[in-house]
Amino acid sequence: MKEYLIAVDMEGVHGVKGEPYEVSVAAIALGTPSYQQAVASATQEVNVAVEALFASGADRVVIWDNHAARDNLDFSKIDPRAEKLVVDRTKGRLEFLKDFHFEGIVFIGYHSRAGSINGTMAHTYNGFDIQYMKVNGKQLGEFDFDSHIAGEYGVPPIFAASDDVCVRQVLECNPDVVTVVTKYAKGRRKADFRDETEVLSEIAEGVRQAAAKKISPVKFTYPCAFEIRYSSMDVAEWRMAEFSKKLTVSYGEDAHTLCVTLQNVDELRMFL
Ligand SMILES: [Zn+2]
Repeated sequence: MKEYLIAVDMEGVHGVKGEPYEVSVAAIALGTPSYQQAVASATQEVNVAVEALFASGADRVVIWDNHAARDNLDFSKIDPRAEKLVVDRTKGRLEFLKDFHFEGIVFIGYHSRAGSINGTMAHTYNGFDIQYMKVNGKQLGEFDFDSHIAGEYGVPPIFAASDDVCVRQVLECNPDVVTVVTKYAKGRRKADFRDETEVLSEIAEGVRQAAAKKISPVKFTYPCAFEIRYSSMDVAEWRMAEFSKKLTVSYGEDAHTLCVTLQNVDELRMFL
């Protein structure tokens, strides 16, 4: 039984760069033209990935929509062979992996980390609050964290499609991952789009290659040094009070920055 997970965010899909100078909790706010386009583009990318996985011998393909409220895709337009994952939000990020035996994860629509120069809609989880998250002194983003958590279950990232800035970060995380550039990132809400037909056919081909390839999982070695910097000192102080109930947390170089030595993945999940 070959099972695959498709993890879907929205900011990295083709044909989307966000609304100019929009400030919202989600990088692409509900109800904007960019949101409609992102849903349509994500649906196309997911469908070609589903087709490629089944063509490569998959028995089961599960789709995890994790953008904002986590309910963006219209499943009436998604290949009916794929299943929609309904996540228990009281559980830690990616804890559902223990209920499956995925061969690998296909990442659609992920984006570059907070602080990335020119990364289209770059952010890390909460674009308002979080300036960076570092493990052992290195800034990491959502692709890195999700991949490293999946590694705890032996599940590798196998494919990612996003803008060129995010694709570089993916390859830094794991150079074996098969990647496709969906657009060229030019700034916060700027991108040069590629031809849609070419992007979709490259995703189809890339996912087929990824399914045929042996790719190793990635995971952090614990204990590891974790640092998080918040835009607001109020948020940092409040988070410090919350985390200190369970962890030994200290300020970093200033009152925006919290530092902790993580002992395991569950401690990491508290920050995601
Ligand atoms: Zn998102």
